[in-house]
Amino acid sequence: MLDNIRIVMVNTTHSGNIGAAARAMKNMGLSRLVLVDPIASIDEDAIQRSSRADDILHNVVIVPTLEDAIADCGLVVGTSARSRHIPWPLMTPRQAGAKVAEMIPAGNQIALVFGRESRGLTNEELHLCHAHVHIPTDENFSSLNVAQAIQVLCYEMRIALVDPVKEEGDGQWGVTWDYPLATHGELESLFRHMEQTLIDIGFLDPNTPKQLMPRLRRLLQRAAPDKTEVNILRGMLAAAQRKAQAVTEQQAQKGTDLES
Ligand code: SAH
Repeated sequence: MLDNIRIVMVNTTHSGNIGAAARAMKNMGLSRLVLVDPIASIDEDAIQRSSRADDILHNVVIVPTLEDAIADCGLVVGTSARSRHIPWPLMTPRQAGAKVAEMIPAGNQIALVFGRESRGLTNEELHLCHAHVHIPTDENFSSLNVAQAIQVLCYEMRIALVDPVKEEGDGQWGVTWDYPLATHGELESLFRHMEQTLIDIGFLDPNTPKQLMPRLRRLLQRAAPDKTEVNILRGMLAAAQRKAQAVTEQQAQKGTDLES
């Protein structure tokens, strides 16, 4: 699916940026790089900056105009560091990912277009695009290095098409957990056990409990412990109770010793 997406760089001046773009693409699984009338050539610097993505540099397609680069595309997305005066459909990188994911199954070719290091894309070039993407930035410093902008967009393409962020299902940490979560009943038993233990060890005064138990309840429910974790906590509580019991008995013994 990522093969339907091409990265188009217009009039790039620094060969290092072409290399860095190739690396950013390959990290995210994209491979098609098109250079529109590049000023830089694919030199040693480009190859070095590409790390081991030089296969993308070897397969680069060079065309004279932006039109040539996008002629067969069903969706052309232009990127821009600043807003231009005629309002144009504008998306976030994530929305662009969703749009691309919607269009690829029907066989559409997609172009993501990036501008010159010095002055971005011209208005005429931006007007050739169906929509624009602006990567959110600090408003006083909105221009990313072009290869870094390519990295952000390629990442979003990957998230949208290959590695969707898990929203639900496998538990809140994105992995399949090894034990089931403690049930409501198990947590209730834990809270009762905890309350009794805290009384036994003199930490909780049952006459002035304040908000201690609700706060502990909130903490533990937020942590969503699994069954083994609850068992560990209950084991700790039981050990504390045994210690408290032993201390009480020792003190009672001392008392009788003194009396006798
Ligand atoms: N000074 C130029 C920016 C050039 S940055 C200007 O003001 O337009 C080079 C390219 O990186 C841009 O053409 C665009 O393709 C990309 N880029 C940089 N910052 C971006 C941002 N915040 N959002 C989207 N693309 C950005």
